Amino acid sequence: MCKMLIDVHAHYEDTDMDAVCKKAENAGVRKIINAATNHETSVKCLEISRIYSNVYCVLGVHPEYAYEPDMTEFITEAARTCSKVVGIGETGLDYQYLPKDDPEECARIKEAQKNNFISHIKLSEKLGLPLVVHDRDAHEDTLSLLRDNVSGNTESVLHCYSGSAESVRDLAALNFSFSVGGVLTFKNARRLVEAVRAMPKERILLETDSPYLTPEPFRGRPNDSSFMVYTAHRLAEILGMTYDDICRITTENAMRIFSRMH
Ligand SMILES: [Zn+2]
Repeated sequence: MCKMLIDVHAHYEDTDMDAVCKKAENAGVRKIINAATNHETSVKCLEISRIYSNVYCVLGVHPEYAYEPDMTEFITEAARTCSKVVGIGETGLDYQYLPKDDPEECARIKEAQKNNFISHIKLSEKLGLPLVVHDRDAHEDTLSLLRDNVSGNTESVLHCYSGSAESVRDLAALNFSFSVGGVLTFKNARRLVEAVRAMPKERILLETDSPYLTPEPFRGRPNDSSFMVYTAHRLAEILGMTYDDICRITTENAMRIFSRMH
């Protein structure tokens, strides 16, 4: 298994998947996990994973859609009937666009996100499937909510990690791993570089978050899984490892955590 990479987090919905898969395959990105964000995208991700043998999916409700109807039953049934469902998510907390001048609305949104997040944590533990967590501008609440609700029995993932090196240790203690995206290649990624150095090797994964966060030197263009090689090269440089080592380690980690991909 040499020079193989796995993109553990992308958003392909109305994308030309033939083109994406071909490009990815040529770049050595052999498996892709498509992340749903609500009911509509869960249906699409499920459909795509049924058609494309190397594309898997995680199903859940992103904090942005926290007010949408509960999807517990849908996800449970999908996970039972389709082995391509490899995890629960993405879900979590996102405080970036909170209406800061309206404290009551702020509190309502936070409460809805929290309830949505907790129901996904419970489902992940019940089904024994990894949880894929989104945390934007909500590091403190994310950590405390996970501390209060996670048993640590199920290995899970913080996607597009943007927290501190210190939080890496706290989250690793809760059995979390960290997927790192194109941001790692940006010039201002000092905090992330420090965090990556603090990550235990068995807890590092790679992702694209396509079509967002395209790595340098293509920053600003739409992302696709093939561009992950640039992030992998930067990771190798930061950790003082070879590109082959990065391929091997991150692939092993992804296959262990998202064990349904075997
Ligand atoms: Zn995402």
